Amino acid sequence: MKDWQVELLACPFEGAPVEFDGKQLICQECKRAFPVVDDIPSFVVPDLAQVHEEREWEWKQSEMKARNEQAVFYDRLLGLIFLTPFEVKMTINALLGDQKKFVKLIEVGCGTGRMLQHFAKHTDFVVGADLSLESLRRCRERFEKLGLWERTLLVHADASFLPFRNESFDAVASCQMIEHVPSDRMRRRVVAEMARILKRNGRFAISGYHYSLLTRWFGKEGVHKGGIYFFRFTREEFMQLIGANLNVQKLQTIFGYAWLSSGTKV
Ligand SMILES: [Zn+2]
Repeated sequence: MKDWQVELLACPFEGAPVEFDGKQLICQECKRAFPVVDDIPSFVVPDLAQVHEEREWEWKQSEMKARNEQAVFYDRLLGLIFLTPFEVKMTINALLGDQKKFVKLIEVGCGTGRMLQHFAKHTDFVVGADLSLESLRRCRERFEKLGLWERTLLVHADASFLPFRNESFDAVASCQMIEHVPSDRMRRRVVAEMARILKRNGRFAISGYHYSLLTRWFGKEGVHKGGIYFFRFTREEFMQLIGANLNVQKLQTIFGYAWLSSGTKV
């Protein structure tokens, strides 16, 4: 692993620095070891079960399994093909605000890189975190083909326990990930974690399912095929969730399908 990559990382349990011994990353505090698979450090370790309630951890395991199975065909899902160009444009505009470019940008829940490949054009260094190792492998292949791999770090991580040092990034993006986090407590942790790793005055863009006239027929809370939990937010719920740790300057809806919040960390 490269120095700039190791310098961003921290133990997801107590936030201490980690050191690379050529094979794995070792926490300097609790001495836990985190494997590095295909240049992708993995912080999704069995000990994470201890910091979750049983049901929360079960849902996350179920999502991990579904995402790993989906990784091969995810990019071809019909809805995504139509929506992606609009979503990309809206999200990048919201994230940039009046900025021209970022130095270090992270997407939490990058999956196979559907959005991350576009974010990469607006930053020097690109970081993607995801709960599915298979999706990250697909993302790596894509980034190698695009010639982006040299300035990219992909990390296997749980969004509620992000393995990054405080104030490491000047931009944080997350696209329709937070609705799959299986409890209000864990969703709040995700936003707090995203705020923690963001620098002061850093920009964010976070989107999540919109409970609207269009989507209400699909339910407020439930389970997608394959075992993926979801929750749809009203305007108040979404504002309250994101606004608890971040300064929301703009809230838009992506065709009544998702909320898109953006702003800065104060
Ligand atoms: Zn540790």
